[in-house]
Amino acid sequence: MIIVMRNDATMEQCQRVEQRLKDMGFKTHPIYGEQQTVIGAIGDTKGAALDAVLNMPGVEKIVPIMKPYKLVGRELKRDDTVIKVRDVSIGGEHLAVIAGPCAVENEDQIFEAARIVKSLGADILRGGAYKPRTSPYAFQGLEELGLKMLREAASEVDIPVVTEVLDTRDVELVSEYADILQVGARNMHNFRLLREVGRSDKPVLLKRGLAATIEEWLLAAEYVMDAGNSQVILCERGIRTYETMMRNTLDLAAVALVKQLSHLPVVVDPSHGTGLSALVPAMAKGAIAVGADGLMLEVHPDPSRALCDGQESLDPVQFGILMDEVSKVAGALGKRLVNGKAKPA
Ligand code: PEP
Ligand code: MN
Repeated sequence: MIIVMRNDATMEQCQRVEQRLKDMGFKTHPIYGEQQTVIGAIGDTKGAALDAVLNMPGVEKIVPIMKPYKLVGRELKRDDTVIKVRDVSIGGEHLAVIAGPCAVENEDQIFEAARIVKSLGADILRGGAYKPRTSPYAFQGLEELGLKMLREAASEVDIPVVTEVLDTRDVELVSEYADILQVGARNMHNFRLLREVGRSDKPVLLKRGLAATIEEWLLAAEYVMDAGNSQVILCERGIRTYETMMRNTLDLAAVALVKQLSHLPVVVDPSHGTGLSALVPAMAKGAIAVGADGLMLEVHPDPSRALCDGQESLDPVQFGILMDEVSKVAGALGKRLVNGKAKPA
Protein backbone atom coordinates (compact mmCIF):
# COMPACT_ATOMS: atom_id res chain seq x y z
CA MET A 1 0.00 0.00 0.00
CA ILE A 2 0.97 3.63 -0.38
CA ILE A 3 0.69 6.11 2.47
CA VAL A 4 0.20 9.49 0.81
CA MET A 5 1.35 12.30 3.10
CA ARG A 6 -0.26 15.72 3.03
CA ASN A 7 1.52 18.48 1.07
CA ASP A 8 2.26 20.28 4.31
CA ALA A 9 3.42 17.19 6.24
CA THR A 10 6.70 17.77 8.04
CA MET A 11 9.72 15.53 7.74
CA GLU A 12 9.23 14.50 11.35
CA GLN A 13 5.65 13.41 10.66
CA CYS A 14 6.81 11.38 7.66
CA GLN A 15 9.49 9.69 9.75
CA ARG A 16 7.02 8.87 12.54
CA VAL A 17 4.64 7.26 10.05
CA GLU A 18 7.50 5.29 8.53
CA GLN A 19 8.62 4.08 11.95
CA ARG A 20 5.09 3.05 12.84
CA LEU A 21 4.83 1.03 9.62
CA LYS A 22 8.15 -0.68 10.38
CA ASP A 23 6.95 -1.50 13.87
CA MET A 24 3.89 -3.12 12.28
CA GLY A 25 6.21 -5.35 10.23
CA PHE A 26 6.11 -3.55 6.90
CA LYS A 27 9.12 -2.92 4.66
CA THR A 28 9.04 0.79 3.94
CA HIS A 29 10.09 2.72 0.86
CA PRO A 30 9.66 6.46 1.35
CA ILE A 31 9.79 8.67 -1.72
CA TYR A 32 10.37 12.29 -0.87
CA GLY A 33 8.95 14.29 -3.77
CA GLU A 34 9.15 18.05 -4.26
CA GLN A 35 5.41 18.44 -3.76
CA GLN A 36 4.52 15.45 -1.66
CA THR A 37 6.00 12.49 0.18
CA VAL A 38 4.63 9.01 -0.27
CA ILE A 39 5.64 5.97 1.73
CA GLY A 40 5.42 2.58 0.10
CA ALA A 41 4.69 -0.15 2.64
CA ILE A 42 5.15 -3.74 1.55
CA GLY A 43 3.80 -6.50 3.75
CA ASP A 44 0.64 -8.21 4.87
CA THR A 45 -2.11 -5.64 5.27
CA LYS A 46 -4.60 -8.20 6.61
CA GLY A 47 -5.26 -7.51 10.25
CA ALA A 48 -2.98 -4.44 10.26
CA ALA A 49 -4.32 -1.46 12.19
CA LEU A 50 -4.48 0.78 9.16
CA ASP A 51 -6.96 3.18 10.77
CA ALA A 52 -4.34 4.05 13.34
CA VAL A 53 -1.90 4.95 10.55
CA LEU A 54 -4.57 6.90 8.69
CA ASN A 55 -5.20 8.99 11.81
CA MET A 56 -1.58 9.93 12.32
CA PRO A 57 -0.67 13.60 11.84
CA GLY A 58 0.36 14.42 8.26
CA VAL A 59 -1.32 11.40 6.61
CA GLU A 60 -3.69 12.23 3.74
CA LYS A 61 -4.77 8.80 2.55
CA ILE A 62 -3.84 5.16 2.12
CA VAL A 63 -4.00 3.66 -1.36
CA PRO A 64 -3.55 -0.05 -2.13
CA ILE A 65 -1.00 -1.11 -4.77
CA MET A 66 -2.93 -3.27 -7.19
CA LYS A 67 -0.07 -4.71 -9.26
CA PRO A 68 2.02 -7.64 -7.96
CA TYR A 69 5.24 -5.75 -8.76
CA LYS A 70 4.98 -3.13 -6.04
CA LEU A 71 8.36 -1.39 -6.15
CA VAL A 72 8.91 -1.71 -9.89
CA GLY A 73 5.53 -0.30 -10.90
CA ARG A 74 4.48 3.28 -11.44
CA GLU A 75 1.76 3.15 -8.79
CA LEU A 76 4.30 3.85 -6.06
CA LYS A 77 6.77 5.88 -8.10
CA ARG A 78 5.42 7.88 -11.00
CA ASP A 79 8.61 9.61 -12.16
CA ASP A 80 11.16 7.88 -14.36
CA THR A 81 14.10 6.45 -12.48
CA VAL A 82 17.43 7.76 -13.69
CA ILE A 83 20.40 5.58 -12.80
CA LYS A 84 23.80 7.22 -12.55
CA VAL A 85 26.83 5.15 -13.36
CA ARG A 86 29.78 7.46 -12.78
CA ASP A 87 28.96 10.36 -15.13
CA VAL A 88 26.59 8.36 -17.34
CA SER A 89 22.84 8.67 -16.78
CA ILE A 90 20.48 5.91 -17.85
CA GLY A 91 16.83 6.86 -17.99
CA GLY A 92 14.91 10.10 -18.25
CA GLU A 93 15.93 12.30 -21.14
CA HIS A 94 19.15 10.41 -21.86
CA LEU A 95 19.82 7.71 -24.38
CA ALA A 96 22.66 5.52 -23.18
CA VAL A 97 24.64 3.38 -25.59
CA ILE A 98 26.28 0.23 -24.24
CA ALA A 99 28.60 -1.40 -26.76
CA GLY A 100 31.37 -3.93 -26.99
CA PRO A 101 32.06 -7.54 -27.82
CA CYS A 102 29.99 -10.49 -26.68
CA ALA A 103 33.00 -11.84 -24.82
CA VAL A 104 36.37 -10.62 -23.67
CA GLU A 105 38.69 -12.78 -25.79
CA ASN A 106 42.18 -11.40 -25.24
CA GLU A 107 43.92 -8.15 -24.34
CA ASP A 108 44.29 -6.79 -27.87
CA GLN A 109 40.66 -7.46 -28.74
CA ILE A 110 39.14 -5.80 -25.69
CA PHE A 111 41.48 -2.80 -25.72
CA GLU A 112 40.75 -2.24 -29.40
CA ALA A 113 37.01 -2.68 -28.82
CA ALA A 114 37.10 -0.18 -25.94
CA ARG A 115 38.89 2.44 -28.04
CA ILE A 116 36.52 1.93 -30.96
CA VAL A 117 33.25 2.13 -29.03
CA LYS A 118 34.37 5.06 -26.90
CA SER A 119 35.63 7.08 -29.88
CA LEU A 120 32.37 6.50 -31.75
CA GLY A 121 30.17 7.71 -28.92
CA ALA A 122 29.33 4.74 -26.66
CA ASP A 123 28.80 5.47 -22.97
CA ILE A 124 29.41 2.05 -21.44
CA LEU A 125 31.62 -0.86 -22.51
CA ARG A 126 30.21 -4.37 -22.48
CA GLY A 127 32.09 -7.68 -22.56
CA GLY A 128 31.42 -11.07 -21.00
CA ALA A 129 34.01 -12.84 -18.88
CA TYR A 130 31.60 -15.59 -17.78
CA LYS A 131 29.66 -16.77 -20.82
CA PRO A 132 26.44 -18.79 -20.56
CA ARG A 133 27.01 -20.99 -23.63
CA THR A 134 24.56 -23.57 -24.90
CA SER A 135 27.36 -26.08 -25.44
CA PRO A 136 29.83 -26.94 -22.69
CA TYR A 137 32.49 -27.21 -25.41
CA ALA A 138 32.04 -23.62 -26.64
CA PHE A 139 34.27 -20.79 -25.36
CA GLN A 140 33.18 -20.18 -21.78
CA GLY A 141 34.93 -16.86 -21.13
CA LEU A 142 38.21 -15.89 -19.47
CA GLU A 143 36.64 -15.48 -16.01
CA GLU A 144 38.70 -13.34 -13.62
CA LEU A 145 41.42 -12.73 -16.19
CA GLY A 146 38.71 -11.43 -18.53
CA LEU A 147 37.32 -9.17 -15.82
CA LYS A 148 40.80 -7.69 -15.30
CA MET A 149 41.30 -7.07 -19.02
CA LEU A 150 37.85 -5.52 -19.32
CA ARG A 151 38.50 -3.17 -16.41
CA GLU A 152 41.92 -2.15 -17.71
CA ALA A 153 40.63 -1.52 -21.23
CA ALA A 154 37.77 0.54 -19.86
CA SER A 155 40.07 2.53 -17.60
CA GLU A 156 42.32 3.41 -20.51
CA VAL A 157 39.46 5.12 -22.34
CA ASP A 158 37.64 6.16 -19.16
CA ILE A 159 34.29 4.41 -19.66
CA PRO A 160 32.19 2.34 -17.22
CA VAL A 161 31.70 -1.38 -17.82
CA VAL A 162 28.87 -3.87 -17.64
CA THR A 163 29.53 -7.58 -17.47
CA GLU A 164 27.50 -10.66 -16.70
CA VAL A 165 27.50 -12.46 -13.39
CA LEU A 166 26.40 -16.05 -13.82
CA ASP A 167 26.43 -17.37 -10.31
CA THR A 168 25.75 -16.18 -6.76
CA ARG A 169 29.30 -17.23 -5.80
CA ASP A 170 30.78 -14.72 -8.26
CA VAL A 171 28.81 -11.59 -7.33
CA GLU A 172 31.49 -10.26 -5.01
CA LEU A 173 34.32 -10.83 -7.45
CA VAL A 174 32.48 -9.44 -10.47
CA SER A 175 31.46 -6.40 -8.39
CA GLU A 176 35.13 -5.59 -7.83
CA TYR A 177 35.57 -5.04 -11.57
CA ALA A 178 32.17 -4.05 -12.94
CA ASP A 179 30.20 -0.82 -12.73
CA ILE A 180 26.98 -2.62 -13.66
CA LEU A 181 26.15 -6.28 -12.99
CA GLN A 182 24.36 -8.01 -15.84
CA VAL A 183 21.92 -10.82 -15.11
CA GLY A 184 21.51 -12.71 -18.36
CA ALA A 185 18.35 -14.02 -19.97
CA ARG A 186 19.05 -17.57 -18.80
CA ASN A 187 19.29 -16.42 -15.22
CA MET A 188 16.28 -14.14 -15.09
CA HIS A 189 14.43 -16.82 -13.11
CA ASN A 190 17.38 -17.52 -10.81
CA PHE A 191 15.82 -16.05 -7.70
CA ARG A 192 18.84 -16.64 -5.47
CA LEU A 193 21.01 -14.70 -7.91
CA LEU A 194 18.41 -11.92 -8.13
CA ARG A 195 18.45 -11.57 -4.35
CA GLU A 196 22.24 -11.66 -4.26
CA VAL A 197 22.65 -8.84 -6.80
CA GLY A 198 19.86 -7.11 -4.90
CA ARG A 199 22.18 -6.89 -1.92
CA SER A 200 24.90 -5.28 -4.05
CA ASP A 201 25.36 -1.53 -4.35
CA LYS A 202 25.98 -1.82 -8.10
CA PRO A 203 23.24 -1.17 -10.65
CA VAL A 204 21.83 -4.34 -12.20
CA LEU A 205 21.05 -4.79 -15.87
CA LEU A 206 18.32 -7.43 -15.94
CA LYS A 207 17.70 -9.15 -19.22
CA ARG A 208 14.30 -10.57 -20.06
CA GLY A 209 14.22 -14.37 -19.93
CA LEU A 210 14.05 -16.36 -23.14
CA ALA A 211 10.43 -17.27 -22.50
CA ALA A 212 9.49 -14.81 -19.80
CA THR A 213 6.22 -12.95 -19.80
CA ILE A 214 6.40 -9.24 -19.14
CA GLU A 215 4.95 -9.79 -15.66
CA GLU A 216 7.58 -12.43 -14.84
CA TRP A 217 10.29 -10.05 -16.00
CA LEU A 218 8.95 -7.24 -13.82
CA LEU A 219 8.66 -9.59 -10.87
CA ALA A 220 12.28 -10.62 -11.38
CA ALA A 221 13.17 -6.92 -11.09
CA GLU A 222 10.97 -6.79 -7.98
CA TYR A 223 13.20 -9.46 -6.38
CA VAL A 224 16.23 -7.23 -6.88
CA MET A 225 14.45 -4.17 -5.54
CA ASP A 226 12.93 -6.05 -2.62
CA ALA A 227 16.42 -7.16 -1.61
CA GLY A 228 17.39 -3.50 -1.34
CA ASN A 229 18.78 -2.51 -4.72
CA SER A 230 16.62 0.07 -6.47
CA GLN A 231 19.04 0.52 -9.36
CA VAL A 232 17.61 -1.85 -11.93
CA ILE A 233 17.88 -1.41 -15.68
CA LEU A 234 15.56 -3.66 -17.67
CA CYS A 235 16.84 -5.09 -20.96
CA GLU A 236 14.61 -6.46 -23.71
CA ARG A 237 16.71 -8.92 -25.71
CA GLY A 238 14.13 -10.89 -27.64
CA ILE A 239 12.09 -13.93 -26.74
CA ARG A 240 11.76 -17.42 -28.21
CA THR A 241 8.87 -17.79 -30.60
CA TYR A 242 8.00 -20.19 -33.43
CA GLU A 243 10.00 -17.98 -35.81
CA THR A 244 13.29 -19.52 -36.90
CA MET A 245 14.71 -16.96 -39.33
CA MET A 246 15.95 -14.82 -36.47
CA ARG A 247 17.66 -15.95 -33.29
CA ASN A 248 14.88 -14.39 -31.21
CA THR A 249 11.82 -12.21 -31.71
CA LEU A 250 12.63 -8.72 -30.46
CA ASP A 251 9.55 -7.60 -28.57
CA LEU A 252 9.50 -3.84 -29.02
CA ALA A 253 5.85 -3.65 -27.98
CA ALA A 254 6.99 -4.95 -24.59
CA VAL A 255 9.30 -1.94 -24.33
CA ALA A 256 6.46 0.48 -24.95
CA LEU A 257 4.29 -1.35 -22.42
CA VAL A 258 6.97 -1.66 -19.75
CA LYS A 259 7.67 2.07 -20.06
CA GLN A 260 4.04 2.59 -19.06
CA LEU A 261 4.01 0.00 -16.28
CA SER A 262 7.37 0.75 -14.70
CA HIS A 263 9.51 3.73 -13.77
CA LEU A 264 12.71 1.75 -14.39
CA PRO A 265 14.85 2.49 -17.44
CA VAL A 266 14.57 0.01 -20.31
CA VAL A 267 17.34 -0.71 -22.77
CA VAL A 268 17.08 -2.81 -25.90
CA ASP A 269 19.59 -5.36 -27.19
CA PRO A 270 18.93 -5.79 -30.90
CA SER A 271 22.05 -7.95 -31.30
CA HIS A 272 20.72 -10.93 -29.33
CA GLY A 273 17.21 -9.81 -30.26
CA THR A 274 17.76 -10.66 -33.91
CA GLY A 275 21.01 -12.62 -34.06
CA LEU A 276 21.81 -10.91 -37.36
CA SER A 277 24.05 -7.87 -37.68
CA ALA A 278 22.20 -6.74 -40.81
CA LEU A 279 19.02 -6.24 -38.76
CA VAL A 280 20.65 -4.49 -35.81
CA PRO A 281 20.54 -0.90 -37.18
CA ALA A 282 16.83 -1.05 -38.07
CA MET A 283 15.85 -2.54 -34.71
CA ALA A 284 18.12 -0.17 -32.80
CA LYS A 285 16.38 2.81 -34.38
CA GLY A 286 13.00 1.19 -33.81
CA ALA A 287 13.89 0.72 -30.15
CA ILE A 288 14.54 4.43 -29.70
CA ALA A 289 11.27 5.22 -31.45
CA VAL A 290 9.25 3.07 -29.03
CA GLY A 291 10.81 4.78 -26.02
CA ALA A 292 13.90 2.80 -25.04
CA ASP A 293 16.29 4.55 -22.68
CA GLY A 294 19.32 2.91 -24.19
CA LEU A 295 20.79 0.34 -26.51
CA MET A 296 23.04 -2.60 -25.86
CA LEU A 297 25.00 -3.46 -29.00
CA GLU A 298 27.55 -6.13 -29.75
CA VAL A 299 30.52 -4.55 -31.52
CA HIS A 300 33.69 -6.46 -32.37
CA PRO A 301 36.88 -5.15 -33.99
CA ASP A 302 36.60 -8.06 -36.47
CA PRO A 303 33.31 -9.97 -36.18
CA SER A 304 34.51 -12.69 -38.58
CA ARG A 305 37.06 -13.74 -35.95
CA ALA A 306 34.80 -13.44 -32.90
CA LEU A 307 34.79 -16.40 -30.51
CA CYS A 308 31.17 -15.71 -29.68
CA ASP A 309 28.21 -14.16 -31.52
CA GLY A 310 30.18 -12.77 -34.47
CA GLN A 311 27.17 -13.08 -36.77
CA GLU A 312 25.22 -10.52 -34.76
CA SER A 313 28.14 -8.18 -34.02
CA LEU A 314 28.68 -4.88 -35.80
CA ASP A 315 32.12 -4.02 -37.13
CA PRO A 316 33.58 -0.58 -36.32
CA VAL A 317 32.38 1.00 -39.58
CA GLN A 318 28.83 -0.31 -39.16
CA PHE A 319 28.81 0.88 -35.55
CA GLY A 320 30.01 4.36 -36.57
CA ILE A 321 27.28 4.67 -39.18
CA LEU A 322 24.65 3.45 -36.73
CA MET A 323 25.79 5.92 -34.06
CA ASP A 324 25.23 8.81 -36.49
CA GLU A 325 21.74 7.53 -37.25
CA VAL A 326 21.03 6.89 -33.56
CA SER A 327 21.99 10.43 -32.75
CA LYS A 328 19.54 11.78 -35.34
CA VAL A 329 16.64 9.55 -34.23
CA ALA A 330 17.30 10.30 -30.57
CA GLY A 331 17.44 14.03 -31.29
CA ALA A 332 14.16 13.91 -33.20
CA LEU A 333 12.49 12.26 -30.20
CA GLY A 334 13.90 14.65 -27.63
CA LYS A 335 16.43 12.22 -26.18
CA ARG A 336 20.02 13.26 -25.63
CA LEU A 337 22.97 11.01 -26.22
CA VAL A 338 24.96 10.84 -23.04
CA ASN A 339 28.43 10.87 -24.61
CA GLY A 340 27.59 13.81 -26.87
CA LYS A 341 26.92 13.50 -30.56
CA ALA A 342 28.36 10.52 -32.34
CA LYS A 343 31.69 11.28 -33.96
CA PRO A 344 32.25 10.15 -37.56
CA ALA A 345 34.20 6.92 -38.03
C1 PEP B 1 25.06 -11.33 -23.45
O1 PEP B 1 24.61 -10.17 -23.40
O2 PEP B 1 26.25 -11.58 -23.64
C2 PEP B 1 24.13 -12.46 -23.33
C3 PEP B 1 24.58 -13.69 -23.08
O3 PEP B 1 22.86 -12.12 -23.51
P1 PEP B 1 21.50 -12.90 -23.14
O4 PEP B 1 21.57 -13.21 -21.70
O5 PEP B 1 20.46 -11.88 -23.49
O6 PEP B 1 21.44 -14.10 -24.03
MN1 MN C 1 26.41 -12.40 -27.18
